[in-house]
Amino acid sequence: MSNQEIEVVVVGGGQAGLAMSEHLSEGGVPHVVLERERIAERWRTGRWDSLVANGPAWHDRFPSLEFAVDPDAFATKDEVADYFVTYAEKIDAPIRTGVEVTSVRRNEGRPGFRVETSDGVYDARYVVAATGPFQRPVIPTVLPESAGIHQIHSSSYRNPQGLPEGAVLVVGAGSSGVQIADELRRSGRQVYLAVGPHDRPPRSYRDRDFCWWLGVLGKWDMAAPPAGAEHVTIAVSGAHGGHTVNFRSLAANGITLLGRAAAHHDGTMHFSADLRTNIANGDANYLGLLDEADAYVARNGLDLPEEPEARVLGPDPECLTNPILELDLAEAGVSSVIWATGFALDYGWLQVDAFDEAGRPKHQRGVSAEPGVYFLGLPWQSRRGSSFIWGVWHDAKYLADQVKIQRGYLAYDHQAAAAAAGAA
Ligand SMILES: Cc1cc2nc3c(=O)[nH]c(=O)nc-3n(C[C@H](O)[C@H](O)[C@H](O)COP(=O)(O)OP(=O)(O)OC[C@H]3O[C@@H](n4cnc5c(N)ncnc54)[C@H](O)[C@@H]3O)c2cc1C
Repeated sequence: MSNQEIEVVVVGGGQAGLAMSEHLSEGGVPHVVLERERIAERWRTGRWDSLVANGPAWHDRFPSLEFAVDPDAFATKDEVADYFVTYAEKIDAPIRTGVEVTSVRRNEGRPGFRVETSDGVYDARYVVAATGPFQRPVIPTVLPESAGIHQIHSSSYRNPQGLPEGAVLVVGAGSSGVQIADELRRSGRQVYLAVGPHDRPPRSYRDRDFCWWLGVLGKWDMAAPPAGAEHVTIAVSGAHGGHTVNFRSLAANGITLLGRAAAHHDGTMHFSADLRTNIANGDANYLGLLDEADAYVARNGLDLPEEPEARVLGPDPECLTNPILELDLAEAGVSSVIWATGFALDYGWLQVDAFDEAGRPKHQRGVSAEPGVYFLGLPWQSRRGSSFIWGVWHDAKYLADQVKIQRGYLAYDHQAAAAAAGAA
């Protein structure tokens, strides 16, 4: 393929790239979406087999297309991927799959960018990096390979059968960690779960899903995490029809809760003495949301059934009252560790001046420090919902607007404007 000129190159054909495409098309902006694999590949093959959406189908979607499942159900990961394939068809997205962007550099002495791909070069005026909020799995350097334990990141976990026989230590109690730990326990494994700071909203309260509560209470649209809560993950689950993540129930079902995995020496894992604090803070977050929901109901005179039983937390399990701080992995029969410890960004292909010293994108609401380059789908890009299906759609709308504003300036023709003024 020879050099192609195009106004906008959108890199990444997940939900973010598709949302961007929709808004660019609406504004009549010529563009192409380049996706190295298939549409919504991360939903299709980048997650475990039994994953379902964390939010109900009525909520975790784009505004103009409903899921082909019960609105209160939790779509499977393949149904989510299919949804985006259907969406791409619906908006007639100019998407090229199987094309990897290998580098983006600013042109010398003229506007725009040189976009090198596995299938030729594009000359683009604008570039939108829509390569996802979760790009490079992060595994803390706690457990050396020499320990001889099978270690994987949650993004590589598929199902219990894929792990060697034996007990499993799951590190991280966000949605991925708790769901994987629960699945392993249900499959008959002995499971240890290292629990860090987390929020755990009720799955539903007073007949409304937590997605609704976070919406009406303005929490999806919060511009930044509350001070001190930047590293707090959210533990929710749509598995088995959806249920509140309750660490006491997980323990009652046989999972041993531990504090944060801190170190490893001579076959023994050491855990921070923070389990009780982390559980207590999670409980406070849970009960706080019930309080806010009750206040909202009262303030607005809503007729939603009271649910006092939601405030009953249940008895503390032994592993919580008397936390284990050290675990001899061999003695405990632990053969695998799953690190559900999150992701980092990786923009190695984007060689422009849009990053700080730590390699983090420098941007405001996705408008980067490098004029003409935009980020989309980042966690907390403009709001809490930015990295989620329903949130990224709004950020894409904003960015498409920014592109249109810039194009408007460039379309200004000084002589034509002067002639028009003279003729008037
Ligand atoms: C386990 C898990 C469960 C989640 N559940 C939910 C949920 O229930 N509801 C919800 O709203 N959100 C959920 N999310 C969050 C979010 O919706 C997903 O992470 C989603 O995949 C993000 O979409 P995206 O388009 O921003 O990025 P991605 O889906 O990561 O898409 C980016 C695309 O860019 C492509 N790409 C990357 N680099 C290049 C390159 N150099 N050239 C070309 N293409 C490239 C990739 O192949 C990929 O297809 C979940 C996330 C995880 C990890």
